[in-house]
Amino acid sequence: MPQRQTRIVATLGPASDRPGVLAGLIQAGVDVVRLNFSHGTPDEHRARAAAVREAAAAAGREIGILADLPGPKIRIERFREGRVQLQDGARFDLLAGDATEAATGDENGVGVSYPQLADDLSAGDVLLLDDGMVQLQVERIDGARIVTKVLGDAVLSDRKGLNKLGGGLSLGALTEHDRELIGVAAEIGVDFIAVSFCRSAADMEDARNVARAAGCDAALVAKIERAEAIANLAGIIDASDVVMVARGDLGVEIGDAELPGLQKKIIRETLARNKVVITATQMLQSMVDSPLPTRAEVLDVANAVIDGTDAVMLSAESAAGGFPVQAVQAMARICIGAEKQFDHDTDFEAAERGLERVDHGIAMATMFLTEHLQVAAIVALTESGGTARYLSRFRSPSPIYALSRHASSRRRMSLMRGVFPLAFDSRGLPAEEAARGAIALLFGKGMLPAGARVLFTSGDSMEQLGATNTLRILTVAAIEPSPEIHG
Ligand code: PGA
Ligand code: MN
Repeated sequence: MPQRQTRIVATLGPASDRPGVLAGLIQAGVDVVRLNFSHGTPDEHRARAAAVREAAAAAGREIGILADLPGPKIRIERFREGRVQLQDGARFDLLAGDATEAATGDENGVGVSYPQLADDLSAGDVLLLDDGMVQLQVERIDGARIVTKVLGDAVLSDRKGLNKLGGGLSLGALTEHDRELIGVAAEIGVDFIAVSFCRSAADMEDARNVARAAGCDAALVAKIERAEAIANLAGIIDASDVVMVARGDLGVEIGDAELPGLQKKIIRETLARNKVVITATQMLQSMVDSPLPTRAEVLDVANAVIDGTDAVMLSAESAAGGFPVQAVQAMARICIGAEKQFDHDTDFEAAERGLERVDHGIAMATMFLTEHLQVAAIVALTESGGTARYLSRFRSPSPIYALSRHASSRRRMSLMRGVFPLAFDSRGLPAEEAARGAIALLFGKGMLPAGARVLFTSGDSMEQLGATNTLRILTVAAIEPSPEIHG
């Protein structure tokens, strides 16, 4: 079985809380887990994070944790029965500002937390709930009461999101609640924080400042899910570490017909700007209720891989579905199959646009050589993961073994396509010995065969960030495995 290069993000929830499921997800190949802060309590997130750290350690894997902030998403409140069946043509009322904790909704109506909703709407507007699964047409506004007509039979359940067709409903990106939740993320020690509904680079800078002030150095993920974000895409990418193609809300705001083109554009732009990209939402949606994906879903995951995404994401499939482990297994095998079809043409032209730092230059030289030499692997000693990020932007078929002494760096690298993070401490070792030790470690783990040619990058002093300044061409046969280092 070839090594999978594309990374898998799986959302945790009630389905993954069932005994044995988390271990099963990790066994099936999950690289990063998402804690969806839109649902559940801080205590539930803390418990899930602790379970992940424990299961990852037990499996000997580097698993990143991503905290996804709710953002200004407008949601309905809860139903007495948890869900209702809506009939086509029936009246259904939304009560703006009725954010009671009690579950009071029924088939006649439900509360909505956003008090200004009635002000933003007029008769004839179409509201899309649950990523468009439920559609309501506004008939009239009666104070805080929005009287609507149900368009098509549908099931509506607790806390589903609400958008207006064409966009224009959401508030500012970082709510008070988000700011508090960044504190929870800091305390958990998450590796990534995702900012929902960001509109601009300033939103991302704001989130980064709040996170840093809370003592959290997590990577920042910009969720592209609003029309405004598309207009400000380059600035948002530059202000973020990771970008998410958040197809659920994006498709609702911009229209589903625009999604394929936008997905390709966001992935292309993100890679050209040397950042990491996740493709998200409804990738294997039918697997909420079925052990096998549809053909269309297989093609969707494969196309994201062929578009060049770093990672593909599962939402309800792993958080609330009946077949979470099967969903990860399906994603893993589809990724491996699609990677065979990926065109590895290294585009130095695009990369040249932003030669940012010395380590970036070394990464480019390395990737130039992988195109012209037979190499088994690229081995990078890296403090922060920066070198691995630059290397992986080229999407070479050669694996990138990224060796770092920092667990936090290794977990961040768990999101990068083609990067395999490993623990290794080269402090105090002369350059040649560090190279020898690193190769011996990989040889000892069976990751490099004897006789293989390897490209090796490192810095004079591995204690400094971004200090990579050296590229060596090494042959594994010349190096004896050193028992003190890999034993
Ligand atoms: P969500 O974000 O799952 O938090 O809504 C992803 C999306 O909108 O696609
Ligand atoms: Mn969303």
